[in-house]
Parts: sequence; C-alpha cells; structure tokens
Amino acid sequence: MTPQDPATPPTRPRRTDHLTRTDRAAGAVVGSAVGDALGAPFEFGPAGAFSARFPDGVGEMCGGGGWDPGEATDDTQMAVLVGESLLERGGLEPADVFGRFRRWAAADPKDIGLQTEIVLTSGDSWDLAASLHFQMTGLAAGNGSLMRAATSAVYFAEAGREATMAAARRLAALTHGDGAAWEGTAVLHELVRVALDGGDPVAAVPGTLARVAEGHRPRWATVLAPDWHPDLATEFNGAVWPCLGSALWALRTTGTYESAVAAAIDLGGDTDTVAAVTGTLAGAVYGLPAIPARWTGPLHVPLPGSGGRVLDAADLVALAEALVRGPAPTHP
Ligand SMILES: [Mg+2]
Repeated sequence: MTPQDPATPPTRPRRTDHLTRTDRAAGAVVGSAVGDALGAPFEFGPAGAFSARFPDGVGEMCGGGGWDPGEATDDTQMAVLVGESLLERGGLEPADVFGRFRRWAAADPKDIGLQTEIVLTSGDSWDLAASLHFQMTGLAAGNGSLMRAATSAVYFAEAGREATMAAARRLAALTHGDGAAWEGTAVLHELVRVALDGGDPVAAVPGTLARVAEGHRPRWATVLAPDWHPDLATEFNGAVWPCLGSALWALRTTGTYESAVAAAIDLGGDTDTVAAVTGTLAGAVYGLPAIPARWTGPLHVPLPGSGGRVLDAADLVALAEALVRGPAPTHP
C-alpha cells in the first residue's frame, strides 16, 4: 500500500489532549533541533539510508559527515539566534536579527546555506542584501528560511494568524528574496500556531492556503495537497516547496514524532532541514514528551560567534518556555 492509497487508514492519533501549550511549544523547538541533528549525518545521501542504518527501527543519534552524535547544524543555530533576538529586543527587529546572522556567518559555522551565505557576507545592508541577491541571480527559493522558523513560530503564535504569517514573511525576507520562501515560511508559522492551539495542522492547510499571496498559491497548493508525495517533487528538496511538502507528508502519513522524523530523513537529500521542518510540526503536534530521551540526551547546539556557547536540550526547553510567554509586560 502506498501512502496515497485511499484505502490507507489515517494513522495519526488524535489523543494529544493531555498536552499543555508549553509542551507543544517546547516540542516544536526541541523537535526541530532533534530532526536537524538526527538528519545531518545523512545529508545528500540516498533515500532509505536511515532505515538501512537502523534495521531494528530504533534510530540513534549516530554522527557522521563531520557531525558529532547529537550535534545540531545551521538550521538550529539560526533558529536560536532568531529566538534570542525576539526575546532580547522584545519583538521583531529585522536589523538586529540580520546582525546576529551576520556575526554568526563571519564565525565560520560548519555549515551554512548557499543563498544565506551570499546574502550575509555581501556587505549590503540588512534591508537590501536579500533582494539584491535575488535580482542578480533569480535564485532565492531555498528552504533556508523554513529551517530556522520554529522559534519565531512559537513566539508569534499568540498574536494570531495574520500577525504570525506577516512576521514569518519579514524574517524569511532577511535572507531569501523570493516570495515563494516568504509564503512557505508563513504557512509553516500558521500550521505551528494551529498545532499549539491543539488543532490539526493538516486540516488547517486549505484555510492557510487561502491566506497565501495569490501568485504563489497554486504552487503551494500542489505540494500541500493530501495526495502529494515527495516522489512528485519537481525540484531537489533543498528548495522551499518540496521541503515543506515533504514535512507535511511525513506528518500526515505517520502516527508519532519518531516515525515522522524517520520518514523525513529516509527521503534522502537535504535530510537535516527536511527533518528539522518535520520535527517543528510533529513536535508541535505530539509535544516534548513524545521526543525520545535517547535523542534529546546527546543533542547540543554550538553557536559560532557567541563566545563558545553550546546549548543543550534543557536550554532549548527554557528558550521555548520564554518564547511562549512572549515579551515581558512593560510597566509605565
Ligand atoms: Mg543544516
């Protein structure tokens, strides 16, 4: 039976009512980081490599390809930078986020997306760098703004659909000049918002698509459709459309956090980012308690350019808790 087979019964359980909003927020942030670290050793590998490595079905943080077991990559590093900027500035200050990205990029991180690197090292100002790059190359629809969206999605969820989608677009535009990346990141923000409210992100797709900029809507509707499968992708999954489409497919066709992330890595290609985006969604749905301790235990997030700081899973939970609380109330 294929995942598209209409006879396939729905596999996702709906019994997640016991979770708190904080469980789900921490699930999104830690879930994204775990997917990133788990997928990193398989980056640019073939489909099926994860289950071939772990034939008993119990995948481990194995390291490889220059990554230590449990080491998170640029996806999580940038997500942390966004989250810390939002908390320290008390809201979205694009120039501050861009400055943090630039300091990080200058500190020679082990991995950095191609488009992101060109934009951050161009020397152009924060409000022009990404659009100038897009004007020159026409290529800016990578998945690099999706991969770092877990923290901002948690922070802006409370502000409602319009606000969280608008914030996603502005954050995406810092490094990606193509509106396709803005709209995809806006969709991810909104699906996380729905999940944090205890709703079903899969069921929220049609309503979310209606809020996508009209010119970008058909292409997003294609990859987010219930019968879409990653085999139908027309681009490598380092592009924004198949990346989010594959993450939603992994969520839709599995019943646990663990199996969703494993399915994402088994697609091959840009495994750390597809698994990070899948982990954002699946973590928000199933919550922190659903993420195995054997994965959170070795998890660590080095932060180049931040004085040698390395975050662990507990630090990410604390970050998520602060983000879900939102900005501290201001006193007159
Ligand atoms: Mg990465």
